[in-house]
Amino acid sequence: MTEVPFAARHIGPSPAERAAMAETAGYDGVGALVDAAVPARIRTDRPLDLPPALSEVEALARLRELAAGNQVLTSMIGLGYHGTITPGVILRNVLENPGWYTAYTPYQPEISQGRLEALLNFQTMVSDLTGLPVANASLLDEGTAAAEAMTLAHRVAPRGSGDTFLIDADVLPQTVEVIRTRAVPLGIEVVVADTSGGLPEGDFFGVLLQYPGASGAVRDLSELTEAAHGRGAQVVVAADLLALTLLRPPGEFGADIAVGTTQRFGVPYGFGGPHAGYMSVRDGIQRQLPGRLVGVSLDADGGPAYRLALQTREQHIRREKATSNICTAQVLLAVMASMYAVYHGPEGLTAIAERVHERATLLRGGLGALGVEVVHDDFFDTVVARVPGRAHEIVRAAAEDGVNLRLVDDDHVGISCDETTTEDHVATVLGAFGRTEEHTGLTRLEAIPRGLRRESEFLTHPVFHAHRSETAMLRYLRRLQDKDIALDRSMIPLGSCTMKLNATAEMEPITWPEFAQIHPFAPLEQARGYVELIGELESWLAEITGYAKVSVQPNAGSQGELAGLLAVHGYHAARGESHRNVCLIPSSAHGTNAASAVMAGMRVVVVKSTESGDIDLDDLHAKIDKHRDDLAAIMVTYPSTHGIYEETITEVCESVHAAGGQVYVDGANLNALVGLARLGEFGADVSHLNLHKTFCIPHGGGGPGVGPVGVREHLVPFLPNHPLRAEAGPETGSGPISAAPWGSAGILPISWAYIAMMGADGLREATEAAVLAANYVAKRLDGHYPVLFTGRGGLVAHECIIDIRKITKETKVTAEDVAKRLIDYGLHAPTLAFPVAGTLMIEPTESEDRAELDRFCDAMIEIRREIERVAAGEYDADDNPLKNAPHTAASLLTTEWKHSYTREEAAYPVPSLRENKYWSPVRRIDQAYGDRNLVCACPPPEAFES
Ligand SMILES: *Cc1c(COP(=O)(O)O)cnc(C)c1O
Repeated sequence: MTEVPFAARHIGPSPAERAAMAETAGYDGVGALVDAAVPARIRTDRPLDLPPALSEVEALARLRELAAGNQVLTSMIGLGYHGTITPGVILRNVLENPGWYTAYTPYQPEISQGRLEALLNFQTMVSDLTGLPVANASLLDEGTAAAEAMTLAHRVAPRGSGDTFLIDADVLPQTVEVIRTRAVPLGIEVVVADTSGGLPEGDFFGVLLQYPGASGAVRDLSELTEAAHGRGAQVVVAADLLALTLLRPPGEFGADIAVGTTQRFGVPYGFGGPHAGYMSVRDGIQRQLPGRLVGVSLDADGGPAYRLALQTREQHIRREKATSNICTAQVLLAVMASMYAVYHGPEGLTAIAERVHERATLLRGGLGALGVEVVHDDFFDTVVARVPGRAHEIVRAAAEDGVNLRLVDDDHVGISCDETTTEDHVATVLGAFGRTEEHTGLTRLEAIPRGLRRESEFLTHPVFHAHRSETAMLRYLRRLQDKDIALDRSMIPLGSCTMKLNATAEMEPITWPEFAQIHPFAPLEQARGYVELIGELESWLAEITGYAKVSVQPNAGSQGELAGLLAVHGYHAARGESHRNVCLIPSSAHGTNAASAVMAGMRVVVVKSTESGDIDLDDLHAKIDKHRDDLAAIMVTYPSTHGIYEETITEVCESVHAAGGQVYVDGANLNALVGLARLGEFGADVSHLNLHKTFCIPHGGGGPGVGPVGVREHLVPFLPNHPLRAEAGPETGSGPISAAPWGSAGILPISWAYIAMMGADGLREATEAAVLAANYVAKRLDGHYPVLFTGRGGLVAHECIIDIRKITKETKVTAEDVAKRLIDYGLHAPTLAFPVAGTLMIEPTESEDRAELDRFCDAMIEIRREIERVAAGEYDADDNPLKNAPHTAASLLTTEWKHSYTREEAAYPVPSLRENKYWSPVRRIDQAYGDRNLVCACPPPEAFES
């Protein structure tokens, strides 16, 4: 074999460089450093039992074999997932482009203007199409969006509206079950009823209607909406965005909240995901929106600039006061969907919808000619045929001719048309119903009632009209991409977020049709390749974590947390201890932990940290004693969010177990453990992993993610399952946590390929290199910036926190100033102010070359010199390169210059920048201004005239 082993491509520093780095950190080799850093009592004595590492070529060949196990048929199943044509210009320049897919969540808005603009387009698109004023920047899928809408409705409903949520019988079946999973721990009662004859008796705080229904039926929902309002209920409409180009939108008939998916806007099936869910709301409840909201603000020069609005309200940051745990969303897919709308524009989308509708009417006509009754007269894209006793036979016949239909029950077949449906497909379907050549002459009759036709305009903003040619579109995408820093430009040293290499060989398979074009509810025998790949991946992850079983269904870390806590609750309940509801969470925990605990019906009790950053054992024991009878679980992160391998973790686990509680270890920091230690071996019962951190799924600018949940044997019966797919989880499970049986299955080949190509040794070496890199950076910065916490031997785990608070006290230069100044050096800032305010948390990962690590350290050290000049009075305390960072080209290329530093010092603080310079497109952004003047849709072009 002549290929370089993949591990040598994935791990940045060469073995010789690693040895030299260990020496800089004061150790004789990487092994010695790792032995010193990682407590012996958590080290595993059993090496990873994984197949031998494959080369890139071999892995792709094996993936081709797995792909060949999937059979791509034309899908007309519907149920919230539809065929769509991804425009090539979007496929290649967004989904297959590291400039877009390797970007991080836009917490540093100055270097994220491109993706923020794309997300603002997304919000504008959703808001326009649904007819509601404010939309967020994506949710995880339609089912969870509907569940978020339920809890939002519960919060805003007037007092006395009760705890019952009504779901119409024509809502998608997976949505109903995702809602049930979420409702139970919150004490919300779910009632499913047919509302076609009006609302049932009783009080409800909210009503969920599907528009068009799962059956395809299009109904006028305005009377129901009015009746629901009359009873004090909020109305949630799960609406199909493509249908809304033809149908009166929910906002125009009084709906309070609209939810749904944007999948059919150019995002492939992927066997269930990832796709962007959406939510939009009426005026008055926008501050209750879950997830992220992009808004318009001003930069230091008064120009318009985008950033995440109401950021402190980004739900999970509020911990136990949060109303949603969503963190990672579906940014990359939201970008794709928004660009689909930009490319087609309102008239293009309408034309697609008209064509889809016409195909459906052709089908209805053909079925009528065969004497087959169609259940609904009014529909958009889906018809249900009544065929007493013949449904199985018809579905089988169609599949033999290459088309999957929906088997509703023994007597009904559902057929959904989409952008890809041709007249040939219609003919094939009619053939399955028994049409022979004599039946000719198809009739087209519009099936949307006059009164329900949309009359209002949408997507009137110029951005949805300016990029119709492929050249224009290509350049628009490039222009936005160029505004941003992603991994294709610089390291992104984000503590807790593990921004490592997303290798091309890992990414390639996800757009192969055999993975991309499988409907989540296609017959399982057509998805054998997926089943095999998922089975292997789940078992590898179980081997890596030491757990008995792993489920990949949760489509973000936050969802894995909820699934894991529901498993804990299920376990206690099965033992007659359902009163156990206290969840202990250290004060340094990630915000999602507390938010998830509340969603799982638990009571959060915070455990203090010591000065040195560890869990305060005295406080822990006191809290355990106090809540002994009600203790459900502790949720800890390991290594801690302070980046330390805490020595006491085994004792923590033992104490909690002794009191009858379960141990949840947040696996976000697994990059410091793989191959060295197993969660299940040192005392944890349950964890989520973040495949978009440790296992190479790219961050996509804030999603997609996959947050598998892993458990020990006793919790296996309580893992997630799925109503439409018995194979996806145990019968006794907690219900679905995502809309699709295996969540975001479409991106699982990425993590599969990573593990397959690294093998046991490669994975362990990567962990060691990550720990080495963090300690190397800590050592190089030591003396310039204090490292806040260290563990054994003065070492850190895979990340380190540097403390800026003393500098701030002495010079007014803040951690934020340092973060923004790094932009002028062409670098992405580390994690700012988490888990400790006034600090920066640096996680270099194993993938960064030594040269890049040095570029970062050199920049930090040079910035420290600049701070010294402020301290010495050489630079004005309020007017210096740090306070004024980042500098745009426009702000420097001025006739007059009145600052205490030179233009060269601003732009080229180190010589290499003369050769390779990233120019920030905006100056520092005023966060408060944007929150006071909330604008969450595309601003008019005049706003950009200077
Ligand atoms: C990233 C992270 C999470 C949440 O994961 P998402 O995929 O963003 O939902 C939870 N805990 C920690 C420590 C994390 O770093």
